[in-house]
Amino acid sequence: MRSAEREADAHEPVSVSRYDLGRDELAALLADEPSYRVSQVFNGFYQRLAEPGELTDLPRALRDRLELAPALASAFRCAAESVADRGSTLKWLLETRDGKRIETVLMRYRDRTTVCVSSQAGCAMGCTFCATGDAGFGRQLSSGEIVEQVVIASRRCRLEGWGQLGNVVLMGMGEPLANFDAVWTAVEAMNRDLGLAARHLTISTVGVVPGIRRLAGKTLQVNLAVSLHAANDLLRDQLVPLNRRYPLATVMEACEEYRASTGRRISFEWACIEDVNDRPCDAYELAALARPLGAHVNLIPLNPTPGGLSRGLRGSARTRVLALQAWLKESGVNATIRQNRGRSIDAACGQLAACGSLVAPSRAEHRNPSSYLLRGDAVGNPVPASTERGGRAQ
Ligand code: SAH
Ligand code: SF4
Repeated sequence: MRSAEREADAHEPVSVSRYDLGRDELAALLADEPSYRVSQVFNGFYQRLAEPGELTDLPRALRDRLELAPALASAFRCAAESVADRGSTLKWLLETRDGKRIETVLMRYRDRTTVCVSSQAGCAMGCTFCATGDAGFGRQLSSGEIVEQVVIASRRCRLEGWGQLGNVVLMGMGEPLANFDAVWTAVEAMNRDLGLAARHLTISTVGVVPGIRRLAGKTLQVNLAVSLHAANDLLRDQLVPLNRRYPLATVMEACEEYRASTGRRISFEWACIEDVNDRPCDAYELAALARPLGAHVNLIPLNPTPGGLSRGLRGSARTRVLALQAWLKESGVNATIRQNRGRSIDAACGQLAACGSLVAPSRAEHRNPSSYLLRGDAVGNPVPASTERGGRAQ
């Protein structure tokens, strides 16, 4: 095999999800069936969130055939489920068909549910405070693999009686705008086929300028979050290596272009790091960038990661985060302190590294990929509200 091919092999999605199949591919799979079967199957997957074996409106023989079709198998085997925050944060370690591990986190709040999905297996950006960055890059996820994470979360919401899944944030593993085409195809499918409004979809980027520009040209207006963390190039070069390629001025230009063409408000993510970016001077520099753009700031204390700690990066104390918020407000910028969900199960921002520390799946789960995660009958009882544990789903 030529080395370029080997390279492509390593980076492109080699396995797909049933959510990678469009109507044409489904039609090919159902070529010997009446044409209305295509819509039945398509609606089954997207509206009823059904697995092939659950398409009960199909004749038994066809259902059995679809259940065995490799192209319609689940993209993932659930290697582990962890639960935190009294049952309201669930993290799944999902293994792709080619053995890559990614993580998906479902969070239930009083008034909504949000799923945080991965866009790549690993990440090539190497931010110095992020566990995914430390783990390095695996491969791009396909659009279907991204959509299927949302479907898994939606099914679980339904099973738990949490109502409809409210929001999707592309803030899991990976840099969404470094996998633009797959991410955008997934976003369109979430909107068109899963019925999620664009304002409930958020793409978070570390500042991939060409990607922000492409987003600015799209008619479907999703939310854009830019992970800033530093408001001068000297500091940002250290925290976010991509800043050396796209310095702050070019990121701000792209943000302005995005705002001008979409009219949508941008948010800046700011992981508060003790004595690094939580001083008054940091607040004033940040305000100088946020104010002209009308950007909203999300403050989150840095979650500890082994790599970050080894570089001396620690989360700011609560009092410092509150002070940052107050200084920003004084400077005319609104800032929200984000809830720190899932820390105890390494499910919080930046902690996703698909580490091998979680419990291995049982043989039954191997036999029936992801079924216990996806199917009401196989999931077992919902986790008791007071339980906080790592490991495998019941
Ligand atoms: N790659 C994209 C999206 C995935 S990271 C991005 O960087 O925006 C999702 C969010 O988690 C980003 O805002 C990122 O800066 C933040 N993050 C990464 N590591 C973190 C950590 N250790 N503590 C708090 N937030 C972190
Ligand atoms: Fe990648 Fe985002 Fe982590 Fe940076 S913060 S390494 S861009 S996942």
